[in-house]
Amino acid sequence: MSSRREKLFDIKRWTVIAGPCAAETKEQILQSANGISQAGADIFRSGLWKPRTEAKSWQGVGEEGVEWMVEAKKETGLKIATEVKDSKTLEAVLKANFDVIWIGSRSCTHYPLLEEVGFQTKDKKLPIILKRGMGSSLKDWLGAAEYIARHNPNVVLCERGIAGFGEQVTRYVLDLQTAKVAQKYFPVVVDVSHAAGRRDLIIPMAKAVKAAGLNGLMVEVHPKPDRAKTDTNQQISLADFQLLMEKLANIPSEP
Ligand code: PEP
Ligand code: MN
Repeated sequence: MSSRREKLFDIKRWTVIAGPCAAETKEQILQSANGISQAGADIFRSGLWKPRTEAKSWQGVGEEGVEWMVEAKKETGLKIATEVKDSKTLEAVLKANFDVIWIGSRSCTHYPLLEEVGFQTKDKKLPIILKRGMGSSLKDWLGAAEYIARHNPNVVLCERGIAGFGEQVTRYVLDLQTAKVAQKYFPVVVDVSHAAGRRDLIIPMAKAVKAAGLNGLMVEVHPKPDRAKTDTNQQISLADFQLLMEKLANIPSEP
C-alpha cells in the first residue's frame, strides 16, 4: 500500500481532541467544552450513542445531545466530534454539521458502515477518525481504513490500545510501535484514556505520544470524573487537563 499521508491531514501537525466519554447533561457538555477550550484543545469530543460491551449498559443520551454539542461549538469555537454507529446516527451528525466523525473500536470491522461513512462524507472530505479494533492487526486496521478512504481519503487512524496481558493492570495495551508504523499510511492520533483505563497513566502516556511525533492525542475529560456515568476511572478533571496541556507544551512535536 502506498503512503497517502502527504495528501491527507489538513488539521495541524499536533491536534488535541478532548471531552467527556459520554454526554450526560447539557450543563456537563457546556462546562467541559469551556474548560477544554480555555486549556487550548482543538476539538471537543463526546459520545452521544455509546455502543457498549454489554447490551444492558446505558447506551448514551442519543439525539438529544446533538443540540448540546452544537451549542458547545457556538460558545467556544471548538470543532466538534462524535461517534457514529449506523446510518441513522451518521445522518443526524451530518445534518448538524459536526466537524469530525469517529468510528469506534467495536465498529472497526463493520465494513458496510465504514463504506457508507466514506461515501456520505466524500464531498466535504470531513476528517474521519477510525479507532483501531481492540483485536485488530495493522493489516486489519489499514484494510478497514481503505473502505472509508476509497470514497473519502481524509482518514485519521486512532490507536486506543489492544487486548493483551496488560489488561491485568491496565485496560488495554498501548501499542505506540504499531501506531508509528501506521503513520506511514495515514495520520495517527492516540487515545490514551481507553488504553490506560486509569487516570494516573494519562499524563505520562500523552507525553510519550507527543514525543514520538504522532499527530495528536485523544483524551477523556469530565467536570466531575468520579460521578461520570461511563469510564469513571479513566476520565480526568478539567484541572488535570489544564496541567496535561502545560506539560505537553514543553515537548516538541517532531515527525
Ligand atoms: C470512546 O472513545 O468513547 C470509545 C468508546 O472508545 P473505543 O471505541 O476506542 O472503545
Ligand atoms: Mn469512554
